[in-house]
Amino acid sequence: MGGCSGCGGKPFYTRRYSGEVLCVSCFNDSIVEKTRRTVSKYKMIRPREKVAVAVSGGKDSLSLLKVLTGLYAPKRNSMVAVSVDEGVAGYRDEALSHAHSLANELGVEHLVVSYKEMLGFSLDEALDWKGEREASSCSFCGVFRRRAIDVAALKVGASVVATAHNLDDFVQTFMMNLMHGDVTRLGWLDPNHSDGSFSVRRVKPFMELYEEEVALYAHQVGVPLQSVSCPYMHEGLRSEVRDYLNMMEANHPGLKNVMLRSGLDVISHYSGSRERQSVPCAQCGKPSSSGLCGVCRMKAAVEEHVKSRAQPTAFGGG
Ligand SMILES: [Zn+2]
Ligand SMILES: [Zn+2]
Repeated sequence: MGGCSGCGGKPFYTRRYSGEVLCVSCFNDSIVEKTRRTVSKYKMIRPREKVAVAVSGGKDSLSLLKVLTGLYAPKRNSMVAVSVDEGVAGYRDEALSHAHSLANELGVEHLVVSYKEMLGFSLDEALDWKGEREASSCSFCGVFRRRAIDVAALKVGASVVATAHNLDDFVQTFMMNLMHGDVTRLGWLDPNHSDGSFSVRRVKPFMELYEEEVALYAHQVGVPLQSVSCPYMHEGLRSEVRDYLNMMEANHPGLKNVMLRSGLDVISHYSGSRERQSVPCAQCGKPSSSGLCGVCRMKAAVEEHVKSRAQPTAFGGG
């Protein structure tokens, strides 16, 4: 086998779907260049716009912060790292400290918003409440996390939030939405998603990168790995979908790319009808489909539950 397709140097990675063979340096450059092209193709970041990068502290989001800062800070786009502290004892601290050190190293401001300050309760405190409409703790938590990121972005004056969703996340979520019969959620996959004047835009600069490539990049540039995973994580269907797609990709290199294109096509046909469905939430003014948004609905349910526990006699208990 010959050398790197870019420079003739020592081969490091073979991109099976394109046939390129790359050395470490050309591979890293290709990740940055692919991200730049994705951002430009979907007009994700406007000139001089302030960008909030959602940083969980995992390798994908740390890589995103590094790549975007390298690309856009020199173009006078200011970057701010925003993180959410769900209040899960022993889990988030490590990730937040990784996020904090990288932000420091890059000279980027870092803002953390906690569930406790935003909602009045932490995830630990909320989770013995089990909502009937929520499939898992993750979807419950996801609703609050998205809102917390929005709150953080508004606080720092950013008009766009960049998240580290990669191509695998996109394709998995697309398939899961189809399997759940939940096409109303497809709008979230829009590469440059906006609920109109209600809130900040959300963009996914890594959406054309395979998860495997982001992980390799993270490793090569020394982004730290999180050693603890969330104790509430329950992946269920997602891990089966991931295994299936990985098997299909191994047999048919490029298949995930094709599925991304299909997903984007479906979303573009669907988005017109979605915009009309969005109305402001009666309580907080954020977008909702029914006049009460998911955050306000779940927050009320948790508060109701906490109240009922505090006054057991009201229900004849004890
Ligand atoms: Zn090379
Ligand atoms: Zn609301």
